Amino acid sequence: MENLAIIGSGIAGLTAAIYAARANLKPAVISGKDEGGQLMLTTTVENYPCFPEGILGPEMISLARKQAKKFGTRFYDGNVLKVEKKGEAFEITTEEEKIEAKAVIIATGASARMLGLESEKKYWNKGVHTCATCDGAFYDGKEVAVAGGGDSAMEEALFLTHNAAKITIIHRRDSFRASKIMQERVLGNEKIKVMWDSEIEEVTGDGSKVTGLKLRNVKTSTRSQIKTDAMFLAIGHIPNTAFLKGLAELDEQGYIIATETKTKVAGLFAAGDCADKKYRQAITAAGTGCQAALEAERYLESRQ
Ligand SMILES: Cc1cc2nc3c(=O)[nH]c(=O)nc-3n(C[C@H](O)[C@H](O)[C@H](O)COP(=O)(O)OP(=O)(O)OC[C@H]3O[C@@H](n4cnc5c(N)ncnc54)[C@H](O)[C@@H]3O)c2cc1C
Repeated sequence: MENLAIIGSGIAGLTAAIYAARANLKPAVISGKDEGGQLMLTTTVENYPCFPEGILGPEMISLARKQAKKFGTRFYDGNVLKVEKKGEAFEITTEEEKIEAKAVIIATGASARMLGLESEKKYWNKGVHTCATCDGAFYDGKEVAVAGGGDSAMEEALFLTHNAAKITIIHRRDSFRASKIMQERVLGNEKIKVMWDSEIEEVTGDGSKVTGLKLRNVKTSTRSQIKTDAMFLAIGHIPNTAFLKGLAELDEQGYIIATETKTKVAGLFAAGDCADKKYRQAITAAGTGCQAALEAERYLESRQ
C-alpha cells in the first residue's frame, strides 16, 4: 500500500512529489501518457521566478523530476482509468495495474480545445498558442488574432493589448457569449477589431511561422484572408478528470471542486490546472501542488 499516490507528472504533480518526498512520505507519481505535462510542449518560459533569462519548459520539468527523485519519489507509467474509495484507502486502476494508496493527489491538468485543423498542428508554438499570459509578450508591436467569443477570449484579447499593436477577434457568431462588462471592455478598446460570423479554415505561414488566416463567413460563405503573426485559441479547456466521475465533485465543465486543495472525499486532494479554470499558470500549479502535499501530509498524520 502506497502512502500517497500523485496522479499526473506535470509541474503540479512534481511539486507535490518534492514536498511529500521531503516529508518522508515516499510518494508514487503516476505519470500518465503525457509525461511532464504541458510544459513539455513549450519553448522558453519567461514568467517563472528565478530564471531571469527564461528556461525551456522541458528543462524545468527535467529539473523538477530530478529533484523529486532525489528525495525518494518513485514513478509509475501509464494512464489512470479509475479511482475508487475502498474503505479508508483508494484503489487506482491504471492501464497496467492496480495501485492502493492511503491518500491521493490528482494533478492531471487541463487540455486546451483546438479547432482540429492540420495547419494549426503544423504551426503549434510557431504562432499558434493557447495562452496569452504565457506567450503574448513574444508579439510586441505585432498583429495577432484571437479565436473565440466567451469570457476567456475577451480576457485573452485584453491581455494581448499590453503587447500587440492590433488584435482581431474571430468569432463564429454575430454576438459574444461573454459577460456584458467584458464585451464592453473589448468593444471599447481601439486596438481590438472583431470579425463576426467567421470561421477559421486554415492557418497560413511560411513554414516556420504563422503569417495569416483563411476565413469563411458562415452566413454568406464568402472566403477571405487576414494577415496575422499569431493566433491565440480561446475556445475552452477540457480538464482531464473524466476518470473521477462518481468519486470527486466536479463542476459543469469537469474541473475538480476543492477548497485549499481538499475535495469532499477524505484523503483525496487536487492540484494544478485540473482544479483551476482561472489562472492556469506553471507557478500557480506548482503552488497548489505544494499545498496539496502539505494537506495530504496532515491528513496522513491525523490517521496514525
Ligand atoms: C504551449 C504552452 C505554453 C505555456 N507556457 C507557459 C508559460 O510560459 N508560463 C506559465 O506559467 N505557464 C505556461 N503554460 C501553462 C502551464 O504549462 C500549465 O499551467 C501547467 O503545466 C499546469 O500544470 P499541471 O501539472 O496542473 O498540469 P499538466 O502540465 O497539464 O500535467 C498534467 C499531467 O497529468 C497527466 N495525466 C492526465 N490524465 C491522466 C490520467 N488519466 N492518468 C494519469 N495521468 C494523467 C499527464 O500525463 C500530465 O503528466 C503553458 C502551457 C502550454 C500548453
